[in-house]
Amino acid sequence: MQDLIRRLLAELGEDPTREGLLNTPRRVEKALKFLTSGYDADIDHVLNGALFTVDYSEMVIVKDIDFYSLCEHHLLPFFGKCHVAYIPSTKVIGLSKIPRLVDVFARRLQVQERLTNQIAATIGDKVAPLGVAVVMEATHLCMSMRGVEKQNSFAVTSAMLGAFRNSSRTRMEFLELIKLRSAVPGLSDRSPAGLACVGED
Ligand SMILES: [Zn+2]
Repeated sequence: MQDLIRRLLAELGEDPTREGLLNTPRRVEKALKFLTSGYDADIDHVLNGALFTVDYSEMVIVKDIDFYSLCEHHLLPFFGKCHVAYIPSTKVIGLSKIPRLVDVFARRLQVQERLTNQIAATIGDKVAPLGVAVVMEATHLCMSMRGVEKQNSFAVTSAMLGAFRNSSRTRMEFLELIKLRSAVPGLSDRSPAGLACVGED
């Protein structure tokens, strides 16, 4: 990988042998491996021992989970907040495991829509709740740094399964509790209607 980074630097018109860039290939390799380490993660291992049988059927919410991912179209970061809710059937999951789960899927090359769906589907699969909801709000550097439709560089995606899909009252309760967008400083006045990066150019 380091040879590729050296060649990339040269292709960009840089001199890979100048002092400031000498260790860059090593650093970039290390950073990229960390940022894509979610490919190697084993979900069952991540959740190991953190599923508990309980008699509790109220909505569980973990909100404002910071996440950082890389868009698969440009290999540029997109990042923001993730909000997760589920309604237990017979099992609950340790609260600290939910941000871990978000990291596993965020540390891959992603599109925001798929990332959102994967988190919801995995909780649905592993916890078998009555319903699960995931909302992600993110800024995409591939759009904002390149000046592409700046107003749409902030994207909101959601995945609603089970009770959150079937009951508008449950869905509204969740959306009210997370107070959409309030969690991202400086972005509260922007339209949430933007689309995530869709891979054009
Ligand atoms: Zn992109």
